[in-house]
Amino acid sequence: MTRSSLALACLLGAVAWPVPSRLAAQAADTVAIAARYQAVADRLIDAALADSSAWQRLAELTDRFGNRPIGSASLERALDWILEQMRSDGLEHVQGEPAMVPHWVRGEESLDLVEPRRTRLPLLGLGGSIGTPKGGITAPVLVVGDSNELAAHAAEARGKIVLFDTPYVSYGVTVQYRWTGAILAARAGAVAALLRSVSPFEMRQPHTGITHYDSTARRIPFAAISIEDAAMLHRMQQRGQRVVVTLKMEARTLPDAPSRNVMAEISGSERPDEVVVMGGHTDSWDVGTGAMDDGGGVVVAWEAVRLLKRLGLRPRRTVRVVGWVNEETGDDRGGLAYRDDHAADLAKHVLAIESDGGVFRPSGFGFTGSDSAFAIVRAVGRLLARIGADTISRGGGGSDIGPIMERGVPGMGLNTDGTRYFWYHHSDADTVDKLDPREMAECVATMAVMAYVVADLPEPLPRGPVRAP
Ligand SMILES: [Zn+2]
Repeated sequence: MTRSSLALACLLGAVAWPVPSRLAAQAADTVAIAARYQAVADRLIDAALADSSAWQRLAELTDRFGNRPIGSASLERALDWILEQMRSDGLEHVQGEPAMVPHWVRGEESLDLVEPRRTRLPLLGLGGSIGTPKGGITAPVLVVGDSNELAAHAAEARGKIVLFDTPYVSYGVTVQYRWTGAILAARAGAVAALLRSVSPFEMRQPHTGITHYDSTARRIPFAAISIEDAAMLHRMQQRGQRVVVTLKMEARTLPDAPSRNVMAEISGSERPDEVVVMGGHTDSWDVGTGAMDDGGGVVVAWEAVRLLKRLGLRPRRTVRVVGWVNEETGDDRGGLAYRDDHAADLAKHVLAIESDGGVFRPSGFGFTGSDSAFAIVRAVGRLLARIGADTISRGGGGSDIGPIMERGVPGMGLNTDGTRYFWYHHSDADTVDKLDPREMAECVATMAVMAYVVADLPEPLPRGPVRAP
């Protein structure tokens, strides 16, 4: 403390300066949390960084079972394996909780350029799309840059395949075309639609993802092509060349299928009925091996709980890891089933944490909850300063924990360096080799410290009015 600040402190004390009590309490929390938990946080960080077990486990999961689309045998085998491993880790209350999930299958699919030259183009049908008739659809292509351009050329779209060659702005912005492209194209009379893949990076790789229909337009097949091929077809059209393709898709939706949320925990030493829950989603698209999205999210939460077990750390409250099922289609049946199965205990869910943004270098968390809870989790976040994961920002959560956040459970999403996430997202390139063992270990440390400390605080995180970010 400097001389002048000492003088100021004395002055403040002498005149009983009206420091708002909330700020004083927050300052006290920060000091108390640092004093009480820095040593255990350092132990967790050191132990997490000492090996590459998270990366190894993710590699084994994805090598053994590959991708894990909902309704598939590979997902169910992966869930069996996760439960078996959780048991052999010595975790408690290992169980699967049933959920019925939508079941869309891709089948065979292809896209052939017929005019102005013959060649096959890489293609990925979008999740939920209908298929084409057996012989496919052969039609001229109308390339548009965006929905305004489609509106301006709507008269030319009838009977054609509309290709949206929409440049990537951000995932949140550009993905709108993946969600609504089939509706926009069908309204203009198109017989099918194609999408320039929603990604900032070109590897001549299509990226899939869910799409939607509504009652305003006929359902037409919708599929993604690579950024490079979208640009090429666009150039051909600009040269005045007639572009014709044959699109074949066997995609179809089957009846809902049974699946499960998988979970395990370390029961709390004093308040086992109060819970910090964390995890990611076990399902992936049917391409690549779903390592980033979201096998890695499940594994870092799981490894964080296993780390507590290995170090013999049992917090006051229960820490539970959950692999939720069915995030990718946007139906969140796993998150909804968890909400309903645990409806009676949600008042005692102290915090829910999701990792679903890729397990790259962690920067901290985004938090949704009350002001007083935010002050506490920020103080906990400071324990992660030495690995640079100490930034706790307002606003955050995840699709899988969304249903319980709506019921008042404070929520948090792991924030990581997202630079490369959408390069690989929903493509054949989503494989474990893109992930760094050290960065994954840092994610484990970050999840473990936050979960352990919040689960061990003398008082539960205060609920209360949630302020928007
Ligand atoms: Zn995901």
